Amino acid sequence: MSTDTRASFIDEQKIADLLAAGAKADKSRGLQIIEKARQCKGLDLDELAVLLQADDPEVIQALYDAALYVKNTVYGRRMVFFAPLYVSNVCANNCLYCGFRKDNTELVRKVLTMDEVRGEIELLLEEGHKRVLLVAGEHPQKSGIDYIEEAVAAIYDTKVGNASMRRVNVNCAPLSVEDFRRLKATNIGTYQCFQETYHLETYKKMHPSGPKADMLWRLHAPARAIEAGIDDVGVGALLGLTDYRFEVMAILTHCQHLDLTSGVGPHTISVPRLEPALNSDVANNPPHAVTDDNMRRIVSCIRLAVPYTGIILSTRERAEFRDELISLGVSQLSAGSRTAPGGYAEAKAHQPTGEQFSIGDDRSLAEMITQLTKGDYIPSFCTGCYRKGRTGEAFMDLAKEGEIHHMCAPNAILSFKEYLIDYADADTRAEGERVIAEELANLDDNMRIKITDLIATIENGARDVYV
Ligand code: SAM
Ligand code: SF4
Repeated sequence: MSTDTRASFIDEQKIADLLAAGAKADKSRGLQIIEKARQCKGLDLDELAVLLQADDPEVIQALYDAALYVKNTVYGRRMVFFAPLYVSNVCANNCLYCGFRKDNTELVRKVLTMDEVRGEIELLLEEGHKRVLLVAGEHPQKSGIDYIEEAVAAIYDTKVGNASMRRVNVNCAPLSVEDFRRLKATNIGTYQCFQETYHLETYKKMHPSGPKADMLWRLHAPARAIEAGIDDVGVGALLGLTDYRFEVMAILTHCQHLDLTSGVGPHTISVPRLEPALNSDVANNPPHAVTDDNMRRIVSCIRLAVPYTGIILSTRERAEFRDELISLGVSQLSAGSRTAPGGYAEAKAHQPTGEQFSIGDDRSLAEMITQLTKGDYIPSFCTGCYRKGRTGEAFMDLAKEGEIHHMCAPNAILSFKEYLIDYADADTRAEGERVIAEELANLDDNMRIKITDLIATIENGARDVYV
């Protein structure tokens, strides 16, 4: 279906009206919506409006319980890990909340050379990472599509022993359809673009200059990426710029719009909360600060609203709170992150300069894996779906049939087994073998036999094994 790309599909009045009506809903309506959400069929906007505002403790507890239930039903115990790779902090924009903004003259600027990109990737591979998210400031000359093409190729090229990155996702400025086609040709997984805020007045205020001031160009970026053949897109809002309830309603509107116009909703939703950033009043004093309780509500509501869409949580959040949000619906985590170009190399020597924002969870990948495994999660480095063509609509069709779980669990086991052999210490290995045995027991007989055979091949030296 064609869309008018100069029009906004966000109807602020409609969202305001739905929120006003939702605020009046009583406890029984809240509980009724939550009961329905347990069928894993998602929520309508009017239902979401109720759950975003319900204040009865029983309804809030039921919301959290249902989020955990839906998360476990759709995703089981797996948790996907990735690391961000900041390649450039040079930027033509002036986003008031970001340390990379053009007018922040105190920031040390850097665009990684291809050798530096390879160096950073080597460090991530040595830790066991297999999935990386390339992040770049917006600069048509210094970090435009030519540079990104080269950087993605350098990432895929880099090897440490027999290890290499198996999926590169990209978070860069919106591109034209033509440039998205070039990005697709580099073999990326997901293209991520956060709208920051869906609220027009707030958007204008936060983005005073540079290409990003054009809100509609950004709003339609995921649709352009899909048009260019990038099936998996990631959306999100930067929480803290305006009322979070409005943003969550707008995110669901965006999902519905993509589904309608492109035939597939987003693959992931990110929930970044504003973190302090160098010389940024907005980041250091968020205009609509989002509390921990608000975050719990946001993650649970999104999990119920779009059960089959991954929820990504970055290291912006502090360690113990991340662990809590995992149980409410988060399905992908970054670990051991640095938010400055060259940050992994610099971290070895001293505190990195040129960071985008400060990090709340500085646990290494190994520490996080150990902790999650002890909590009975299966860390996953799986990249099977995208390499087998289970992307976009094909992925969602399988997911909605409840079938994707049958792929995710085996692939999580296989990729975790590789990690345990190649990178884990003895303690983690023992815990890991325990959760793998438990997870194997949950597979159906045919799959269990198949995966047990594949595990044996990994023990005999095979790598990059997936179904
Ligand atoms: N420059 C590109 C863009 O803006 O789309 C991509 C890279 S930008 C570094 C990635 C994301 O960082 C932004 O979309 C924004 O949501 C997030 N971000 C910026 N400042 C932040 C802050 N102070 N705290 C948390 N996240 C922030
Ligand atoms: Fe540049 Fe992105 Fe930061 Fe805005 S959020 S200043 S576009 S890096």
